[in-house]
Amino acid sequence: MVSRVIPVDVFDLVIFGATGDLARRKLLPALFRRMRDGQMPGESRIIGVARRDMEADEFRNFVRDALEEFEPEAAEAPDVLKAFLGALDYLVVDVRGDAGWEALKAMLRPDIVRAFYLSVGPSLFGEIATRLKKHAIAIPESRIVVEKPLGHDLASAKALNARLGACFDEHQIYRIDHYLGKETVQNLMAIRFANALFEPLWNGQYVDHVQITVAERIGVEGRGGYYDKSGALRDMVQNHMMQLLCLTAMEPPAKFNADFVRDEKLKVIRALVPANPQSTVRGQYRAGDGEGGYLDHAENPDSNTESFIALKVEIESWRWAGVPFYLRTGKRLRARMSEIVVVFKKPPHAIFPEMAQQGSNELVIRLQPDEGITLNMTIKEPGPGGMRLTEVPLDMSFAEALGAGHHVPDAYERLIMDVIRGDQTLFMRGDELEEAWAWIDPLVAAWEENGARPKPYDTGSSGPEDALALLHKDGRKWREIES
Ligand code: NAD
Repeated sequence: MVSRVIPVDVFDLVIFGATGDLARRKLLPALFRRMRDGQMPGESRIIGVARRDMEADEFRNFVRDALEEFEPEAAEAPDVLKAFLGALDYLVVDVRGDAGWEALKAMLRPDIVRAFYLSVGPSLFGEIATRLKKHAIAIPESRIVVEKPLGHDLASAKALNARLGACFDEHQIYRIDHYLGKETVQNLMAIRFANALFEPLWNGQYVDHVQITVAERIGVEGRGGYYDKSGALRDMVQNHMMQLLCLTAMEPPAKFNADFVRDEKLKVIRALVPANPQSTVRGQYRAGDGEGGYLDHAENPDSNTESFIALKVEIESWRWAGVPFYLRTGKRLRARMSEIVVVFKKPPHAIFPEMAQQGSNELVIRLQPDEGITLNMTIKEPGPGGMRLTEVPLDMSFAEALGAGHHVPDAYERLIMDVIRGDQTLFMRGDELEEAWAWIDPLVAAWEENGARPKPYDTGSSGPEDALALLHKDGRKWREIES
């Protein structure tokens, strides 16, 4: 299958924090790939802005090195590499001061798409937005992109929205959540709304429960300071997992456009039953396998912050009444794996004796490591000898299904092009962000009041025993964490 690439309009993209980790590892390689695939017009420009004092040519060398490390195939396309490096420029600006902004303004061309990617810490978001407006660099059609952490609680999320909103209209603000840029996540919507097969079954009459897992192998080393103030609930559940839950649970929007989709997601968040602290399990990994434990890297050696959380979430709606959504995420678990699993109910009447031992149909939507969708079915075991049943997966790995050599685009590739196209469908709206925090805050307050320590768990495990019990007591079990 040949992928269709529709070039975007010519643009000027300013990356604030262009010398940082996110820009080097993700943003610049993603843009290179979009140029290589013919989507980024050659006249477009990427202007790096950061504090580090260097000339444009030094920045080009810096980007060449980043591509060598994170996009080694760049060397096989020397003409594209040359054109890409030629599209780069650089400006030294300390965004907390007033110097340098007029020079930035002079670099930008009128009448073409203008976007600002804030790849800097969140404390600088307001500073940059304010100065872009003050120096008239932000024009009515320009776009601003911000990434998590978007607030720490409802009050700070509201303050951030207000600060950005004072300088940019909501239609100009792109709150990026890279989980939504994954092909599989968009395929979740295609599967649901472009096929007649699933949607009639997508409700409490046929669905027993839903599991959403985001498991990581790595720990918090290097990020201990930030993470210790955040924890798994704020770092993963409030944003990525809440978004996955919304896309799984939302009603079909009347049209696939930004506000229709975001209205439906917002309704899901509003319909969430307040989280019950008794239905949450917090964990913290301990030292093992020759690696330190959470507390060895945390800012506070006596930290109460969770590196794992499992929770049972319920949605008050006709579609989902009585269908639990179980969420779990953690660090230093057995494998790196993210998936959404829709577990269907068993058939209402068992005509085969073996049916009691068989599992249920499951639709597994895997985000990482290998994006793909699997439907687990029960079929007859081949051969004579009676009606023996067995389970087989109907598998659709995207890399295979779309043909050898087909490149599954990285989430940032898709999302940056959406910014240039002006398509906000896969970006969070301000009210979604606030509503998600409004659901999270009381849970954090309940934990703080209770003061209980997170349960310890072993490196390489599936998390604390209590997380297994959370499902066992409902007569269910988690799928194995495996890559
Ligand atoms: P980083 O510390 O590696 O880079 C920060 C960049 O900001 C550098 O280029 C630095 O020069 C620039 N900067 C800092 N202060 C500045 C100032 N006063 N004026 C001008 N430039 C300044 O950070 P990062 O890991 O690249 O992360 C950037 C943002 O993206 C953060 O908000 C982070 O939470 C978020 N984020 C990062 C990742 C990731 O994979 N690294 C993933 C998700 C979200």
